[in-house]
Amino acid sequence: MSQTPEFPSLNGITDKLNRPVRDLRISVTDRCNFRCTYCMPAEIFGERYEFLPRPHILSFEEITRLARLFAAAGVTKLRITGGEPLVRANLPELISSLSTIDGIDDIALTTNGYLLAKNAQSLKDAGLSRLTISLDTLDEDIYTQMSGRSHGPANTLEGIKVANELGFSPIKINVVVQRGVNDHTLVDTARYLKSTGAIVRFIEYMDVGTKNGWELSQVVTSQEVIETIGNEFPLEALEPNYPGEVVSRYRYTDGDGEIGVISSVSKPFCGGCSRARLSTDGKLVTCLFASGGTDLKKLLRSGASDDEIAVLIGKVWAGRNDRYSELRSEDTEFKASSSDDKVEMYYIGG
Ligand code: SAM
Ligand code: SF4
Ligand code: SF4
Repeated sequence: MSQTPEFPSLNGITDKLNRPVRDLRISVTDRCNFRCTYCMPAEIFGERYEFLPRPHILSFEEITRLARLFAAAGVTKLRITGGEPLVRANLPELISSLSTIDGIDDIALTTNGYLLAKNAQSLKDAGLSRLTISLDTLDEDIYTQMSGRSHGPANTLEGIKVANELGFSPIKINVVVQRGVNDHTLVDTARYLKSTGAIVRFIEYMDVGTKNGWELSQVVTSQEVIETIGNEFPLEALEPNYPGEVVSRYRYTDGDGEIGVISSVSKPFCGGCSRARLSTDGKLVTCLFASGGTDLKKLLRSGASDDEIAVLIGKVWAGRNDRYSELRSEDTEFKASSSDDKVEMYYIGG
C-alpha cells in the first residue's frame, strides 16, 4: 500500500457552504456504445461527432495521481463512470492502481452493463467494490428506443446475473424515469429484480447537459413512483444509511428487499453534496450542472509538483458554492433552456 502524503493546503477542506469533499466521480471516457435519448441522442452524437482525441484524455497514471490528491483532501469514495467506462481499454488496470490509494475505502463503477458479463471477473479481481448498472426497462422495444441501439436488455441482464454470481453485493440498478416513455414499465422492472438482492433506484429525469430537450412535464416525481410501485408491492420508508444520502430508501413489507428513489428534481439535495467530478480530459467540475471546470491536466502535464496541484484543488473547492438543483426548484419560471452552457453528463460522469 502506498502512503497518502499530507498536503497542508487540502487538510479538511470545505466549500463556501461548509461541504467537505468525500466522493470523486471519474469519467474515464466520453465515448459510449449506447445513444440514450436523455444523454447522448443519436441525432447529435452521430458518425461525425468528434469525441476527445486520445492525447486529451487522462492516462491511468494521471487519474491515479489526482485521485491520491483528492484522497488527501478527504475523498473516501471513487466512482468510475463516463460515457461508458467499459469501452475504455484495460479498465481493470486503473481499478487496481486506484485500489492502492490510502484513504479510499470504496471504488464503484456505473455501467450500462452491455459489456459487463465478460468484464465482471477482471473488475472484481482488480478490487472493484461495487457496481451500479443502468437498466431503464425490460421491455425490448422501449429499451431500444431509450438506448438508441437496436438491441434489447439481454446483454445487460446477463451482466447483472454474472455480477450477482461473482458476489458483487448489493448491485444497484439505475432506472431513469421518463413520463410517457418507460413509466408504465416500472412495476415490471421492480417485480423482476425483487428478491434478487439488487436494489433498484428510480431516478427523476434531469436537465443535465443541453442536448436532451428536457422539459419538466417529462419528470415523474419520486412520490409518484413510490405510489405506483407501492400499489403493487406495499412499501415502508427506511432510515437513510448515513446522513445526507441522496437515495430515499423503501423496503418491501413482504421482506423481499428494498428500492430507492433519487429526487434530484422534486427534492434537491445540494445541502449535503460532497461530490467532485473529474472530466475525461482532466477538468475538476464542482457540480453536475456546471458550465465548465478547472483544468488540472494542464498543471499535471506542465511538470507541477503534487503540492502545486493540491493548492489548486484546495482553492477550487474552497470557492465552491454550487446549488443548481435547489435554485432550479426555487425558480418557478425555470426553463432548462435558460442555461445552455452546461457541460454534458457523459463528459463529467453521472
Ligand atoms: N454509461 C454508464 C451508464 O449509463 O450507466 C455510466 C454513465 S451515465 C451518464 C450515469 C448514469 O446517469 C446512468 O445511470 C444514466 O441513466 C444516468 N443519466 C444520464 N442522463 C440522465 C438524465 N438526463 N437524468 C437522469 N439520469 C441520467
Ligand atoms: Fe451512454 Fe450511459 Fe449516457 Fe446511456 S446514459 S448514453 S449508456 S453514457
Ligand atoms: Fe450537487 Fe450540483 Fe447536484 Fe446540487 S445540483 S446536488 S450541488 S451536483
